[in-house]
Amino acid sequence: MEDCIFCKIAAGQIPANKVYEDDRVLAFEDLNPQMPVHTLVIPKSHYRNIADGIPDDELGYLMNTVKKVAEIKGVAESGFRVIVNTGADARQTVHHVHVHVLGGGLMNVDSPAQV
Ligand code: AMP
Ligand code: ZN
Repeated sequence: MEDCIFCKIAAGQIPANKVYEDDRVLAFEDLNPQMPVHTLVIPKSHYRNIADGIPDDELGYLMNTVKKVAEIKGVAESGFRVIVNTGADARQTVHHVHVHVLGGGLMNVDSPAQV
């Protein structure tokens, strides 16, 4: 999709620090990390958010990639938080569905609230 920053990252048109990539998904480091581990996981296909009719197999593949990313980043055992901001009230700023994977330290109940 034109003018989508994450589509451009998926297409290699904008650089990113890649953590994992295959033909369906890409994981890369968040530009503005809120925790020692803060990686974003996206499908390469464009969906606006998690409520945008993502096929079950695509959504399942995306979430199983979260597990891979947690292992690669070394937080699979210690624990991690998964956040999918969806829509205006959640302050979604990039309208290409993405999963925040946060970890590397003990989080408060409401922190990091900004992601
Ligand atoms: P959200 O508020 O859930 O839409 O979060 C969007 C996230 O994308 C924020 O945490 C940003 O720091 C991150 N972000 C925006 N642009 C880039 C980029 N070019 N590379 C990596 N992360 C980005
Ligand atoms: Zn996109």
